[in-house]
Amino acid sequence: SIVYLNGEYLPLEEAKIPVLDRGFIFGDGVYEVIPVYDRRPFRLAEHLRRLQHSLDGIRLANPLTEAEWSECITHIAEAAETEDQGIYLQVTRGPAPRDHAFPKVVRQTVFIMSTPLTTPPRELVEQGVSAVTAVDNRWLRCDIKAIALLPNVLLRQLAVDAGCAETILLRDGFLTEGAASNVFVVRDGVILAPPKSNLMLPGITYDVVLEIAANQGFAHAVRQVSEAELRGAEEIWLTSSTKEVTAVTRLDGRPVADGRPGPLFWKMHAAYQAFKQTVMRA
Ligand code: PMP
Repeated sequence: SIVYLNGEYLPLEEAKIPVLDRGFIFGDGVYEVIPVYDRRPFRLAEHLRRLQHSLDGIRLANPLTEAEWSECITHIAEAAETEDQGIYLQVTRGPAPRDHAFPKVVRQTVFIMSTPLTTPPRELVEQGVSAVTAVDNRWLRCDIKAIALLPNVLLRQLAVDAGCAETILLRDGFLTEGAASNVFVVRDGVILAPPKSNLMLPGITYDVVLEIAANQGFAHAVRQVSEAELRGAEEIWLTSSTKEVTAVTRLDGRPVADGRPGPLFWKMHAAYQAFKQTVMRA
């Protein structure tokens, strides 16, 4: 398939970067994953805004204008094989002699590719997934979508090792997010979301779910969620661009409530699918 690298469109096999790229040497870069439905990028403006926040967070100039990003992403989405896709884009501080300090002259590396997107299969929606918990041992700038994902990789592998789908993270006794998702909890019929802060990635899907809750009049609150509240939850949901909204039905080997996706999950799932449809028809 066709990818974008530093101003050129070329086959993936021909896309090459120098080994001294700071992305490779230091993990010095940021990224985005943008879902595409029917070849239409979903919430593109919001993803580009978060990209700018990440770039500002690592003090790296945005190499492209919003119009240029939009054009490149649309081009890649049109050239791809499938209608539904995940657009992956990455910006690094580029190649430079190895030195922690920023190079004097920066030539950012810009890479964009498309991979087929498979939305959660029916079985997974109906049964939910299992999750484990772990102490959130990441840094204090989890709001930056950094390509340096080693902590997330190690945390996610804990779930894989336990035959589970995700690792839910707790910092100082409070829920932060998943290794690669945001987490919602239902208590007393109220949807609870941890507040955005430096301790979690501001998920685009997280915003969509809160918007839907507001529009549909589902009781919800943005506030800290304690470990006890997580463990005693009526429902637990994961959200991300690729997982959409997925119910967690087992936590650390124990069923969440009766071990099946709960009533509010089904309402939110239906509203989320309807919301996607309106965007696709727009
Ligand atoms: N938190 C983390 C750590 C993530 O990696 C992701 C995305 N993979 C999310 C939350 C969810 O963000 P989004 O809804 O924008 O996909």
